[in-house]
Amino acid sequence: MIWQDAMRCIHVGSVNVVEYYEDWVVHTPSQEFMVPSIIMQKRYEPFEREVVCNKDNIFLRDRYTCAYCNEQFTNEDRLSLDHIFPKSLGGQITWTNAITSCKPCNNKKGNNVRIRPNFPAYKPSYYDLVAKRREFPITIPEAAWVPYLSWPEDNVIVKPRKNKNNVIRLAA
Ligand SMILES: [Zn+2]
Repeated sequence: MIWQDAMRCIHVGSVNVVEYYEDWVVHTPSQEFMVPSIIMQKRYEPFEREVVCNKDNIFLRDRYTCAYCNEQFTNEDRLSLDHIFPKSLGGQITWTNAITSCKPCNNKKGNNVRIRPNFPAYKPSYYDLVAKRREFPITIPEAAWVPYLSWPEDNVIVKPRKNKNNVIRLAA
């Protein structure tokens, strides 16, 4: 979340501050406030665990791996979504009809329904996607966040931003 929203949550008392930025204060004409780096919600708020069927989530479900040649990619620009049952025949982007494909394989397949993917297209659970996301690197702006992320430490890249902006909000 952006820091202004975090300040609002503190003001209305819905969160506790876990850590402040050591080198960042904001000023009003009469007061000075330390900006939090990590806050924690006071009350448990259930959030939507339904997974959205979009390109990013399908790539993640398939671990950025082409379902036709089995190559894994780190560059999403080289991937596309394949309609298992072709679009031209009425196939749509759904969890069970869309699968990750590299661009050459997608071109090769075209409308040929006899070319089948090497792994199944299925609707993943929220936890399935979260677990897969943790297999890949994450870039964060603050080293202080690392202990709170439950992310494998060798997959965390800390890249401080020139302009600080973000505050991590932890669930209760
Ligand atoms: Zn391929």
